[in-house]
Amino acid sequence: MILVRYGEIAIKGGKRREFERKLKENIEKALMRKGMGGRVKILRGRLLVDANDEAAAIIAKVPGVISVSPAREMSYEEIPEYLRRALKAKSPKSFKVETQRLDKTFLRTSVEVNREIGAFVVKEFGWRVDLEKPELVIGVEIIAGKAYVFFERIRGVGGLPVGTQGKVIVLLSGGIDSPVAAFLMLKRGAEIVAVHFDQGMNARSVVERVVEILNDYSPEPIELIIEDHFEILKPYVVALNRLNRREWTCVVCKVAMLKRAAEIAKEVGALGVVTGDSLGQVASQTLTNLYFETMSVDFPIHRPLIGMDKEEIVAIARKIGTYDAFLQYPYCECPFRPERVVTQGKLEEFEKIRKELKRFELKP
Ligand code: ATP
Ligand code: MG
Repeated sequence: MILVRYGEIAIKGGKRREFERKLKENIEKALMRKGMGGRVKILRGRLLVDANDEAAAIIAKVPGVISVSPAREMSYEEIPEYLRRALKAKSPKSFKVETQRLDKTFLRTSVEVNREIGAFVVKEFGWRVDLEKPELVIGVEIIAGKAYVFFERIRGVGGLPVGTQGKVIVLLSGGIDSPVAAFLMLKRGAEIVAVHFDQGMNARSVVERVVEILNDYSPEPIELIIEDHFEILKPYVVALNRLNRREWTCVVCKVAMLKRAAEIAKEVGALGVVTGDSLGQVASQTLTNLYFETMSVDFPIHRPLIGMDKEEIVAIARKIGTYDAFLQYPYCECPFRPERVVTQGKLEEFEKIRKELKRFELKP
């Protein structure tokens, strides 16, 4: 069985029960989708999953999970006999016993358990105790009168169970950043619907692969809505050409995307639109441009990567696996991108362009 730890110490009272119920449901769904059964029991402060050890890696990806350990359940008295068998093939240079007593009615303290089990292991195997840097950690958790013994602790993604925070639209571009933005929203418990503006190039394949990868972090398969980028953007490009204002294409394009995304959000009941913008990362992501884009849309826009460096974003992309999807397909530059893009545009100029575009019956 798998012992699941979850966090968010701040969650108390009624919220806590909702958190636990949702987490249980999401773990059951994740296992089901991987063709693995597994009943989840809510104990005090832990979830217990009746599944094979292989389920641990799947459960570790469920948002809300702090860490998981494949464990064996037994009575306290059975621990020595179990360890005699389980540790027979191991020969670590050093070890320690680490006990957590979630059940305060249990008669021994954690320190007493550490000493008692530790002394048994020393006597039985002769290994050295090292409390600082042990090669093997024998984990013991006492919950509701039972002992759970384990040797491994796999880190989970943390955060909150998906479905506890409502729904958002995530704009997935096929780049490195937006999948990370999507992951961070899942991690904080938001349900996501992905929207991609298709330019008829590789990006769409990247996005499709990215959605598959992100599905591991989502209880339900993520819906991917594909929109025709040319259809949406072409009239603007034509109009900007006519105005001899091609350098505004990227800003106007983002506005067009965000507007369409806001419409979709209203259709699917999402409460915000999420992008992978990071301040100053590329010439077009200046505070000025983000200002124009945000002010043109009457809907909440969230940018979870706004203060992150590229290295930090790439590190997360590698960890969650979306970086590989990006590398799989050669990158294509946007065909509409002008040679020069506006980075510090003047507000008056932007307003003028907006007016002009309205004259062409376009409404950025
Ligand atoms: P990314 O790595 O996510 O592509 P980027 O650094 O390339 O980001 P931009 O191309 O300026 O930045 O895009 C900023 C954000 O706008 C993206 O993170 C994404 O959320 C959204 N976006 C850009 N192009 C598209 C697209 N074709 N379809 C959907 N969303 C897009
Ligand atoms: Mg991009």
